[in-house]
Amino acid sequence: MPASNTAAVLLAAGGSSRFGEPKQLLDWKGRPLIAHIADTAWAAGLEPVVVVIGAEADRMTPALRGHPVQLVRNYRWREGISTSINLGISVLPQETDSAIFLQVDQPLLTRRLLQALATRRAETGAEVVVPTWQEQRGSPVLFGRALFPELARLTGDTGGRALFETYRDRLVTLPVDDPLQLADVDTPDRYETLRASATASPETILGPVRAVICDMDGVLWRGETPLPGLHDFFALLTQHHIRYMLVTNNASRTPSQYVEKLARFGIDVTLDHVLNAALAAADYLKAHADPGAWVYPVGEIGVREALLNRGFRLSAGESAEHVVVGWAPSLTWQTLAAAARLIQRGAQFIVTNPDRSFPAEDGLVPGAGAQLAFLQAATGVPPIVAGKPEPILYEQAIARMEAAPHETLVIGDRLDTDILGGLRMGLSTVMLFSGIQGPEDLPKSPIHPDLVFDDLATLVTAWRSVKGD
Ligand SMILES: [Mg+2]
Repeated sequence: MPASNTAAVLLAAGGSSRFGEPKQLLDWKGRPLIAHIADTAWAAGLEPVVVVIGAEADRMTPALRGHPVQLVRNYRWREGISTSINLGISVLPQETDSAIFLQVDQPLLTRRLLQALATRRAETGAEVVVPTWQEQRGSPVLFGRALFPELARLTGDTGGRALFETYRDRLVTLPVDDPLQLADVDTPDRYETLRASATASPETILGPVRAVICDMDGVLWRGETPLPGLHDFFALLTQHHIRYMLVTNNASRTPSQYVEKLARFGIDVTLDHVLNAALAAADYLKAHADPGAWVYPVGEIGVREALLNRGFRLSAGESAEHVVVGWAPSLTWQTLAAAARLIQRGAQFIVTNPDRSFPAEDGLVPGAGAQLAFLQAATGVPPIVAGKPEPILYEQAIARMEAAPHETLVIGDRLDTDILGGLRMGLSTVMLFSGIQGPEDLPKSPIHPDLVFDDLATLVTAWRSVKGD
């Protein structure tokens, strides 16, 4: 689950000589180790991801260009690890509740382990969380803010482990189920062994899946054209009793319009298989607002119908307790002005989806995210966003399926919404190239899906072979 107040401090300042080149720059699945670990931390939802560099800093900087990290240069790295810990802590924002201290040499570390460390801290209130395998303590370690001053007082090559004994009453462990997650690259041989075991296989990802969250546009169809493998995909889900939710950030249409569209392609699904961002926003409101509250809708039929179906009353703009914004192509300045006034007077600001633009027949056009930006600029109030990659839509999909996150797979065609949303929830992810992104987008992105396929047809073929069909 997202751990928004937990930061990552990647301690990557040290020099190493065993590998012929800096360990930080060893190749890991097509990118330098330092970038791979930083991306894993970021995909886990850790924020900010601070990377402390020192030795050969001029070669590290280009390796991290374009990655969502905060680079800090430690000119005193030769004095030992404590100088990097100190520097890393000094740049963390006030709201940081805890930090996970990472090294570059644990390439098989998973975002789930990082998320689990943060969750353990949230559940126990412990100031130190240490992963263990068969009672052996490993890395990375999470430290709570209360210990930041102690960490800052460390000197020389003494790391955070020096505090374990003093704070043993405030330390909890987190047993891991796979020792490889804690394995470190200490020799070239070890590096080759770990690299060989690193490839995610269809067996390990697809084997445990019992529930699927599937994007629609670019996955099931493009425009009015069904995509290859559509019928086989639903046949496979039915045959293996895999539950599914069809989800979309598009809030302008109603679920029944999607059911009808699939019926035209010869696929029978029911209304409770479809969840769009408008419904997710309305359900979120239903769980958090007074029944029958007044809501000012800035959106089309998708938003209005979802709100009315949940028992809310629709305001004409003079007063409301909530403002719900969805994509609205017939929007006027007057409507935006009314929404801004209500938000400034304290109405809760909810947006269906953050997509700033989307492709239309005549080029990119503004999406709900552009309306969000307009209202946020006018009011200074950040909204609650229901759609991907924020968690609300996926949380509701999982709840409706009564599924467990570790047995749930996300299938999508966009890295920054479908896949990132899944990674942040700790779900397995499959990226298809049948939508708007292709293989050429992968190396440039810090978002790494577990598996990639050309389209549903090739996914189904791989899945059937895992199932032995
Ligand atoms: Mg899509």
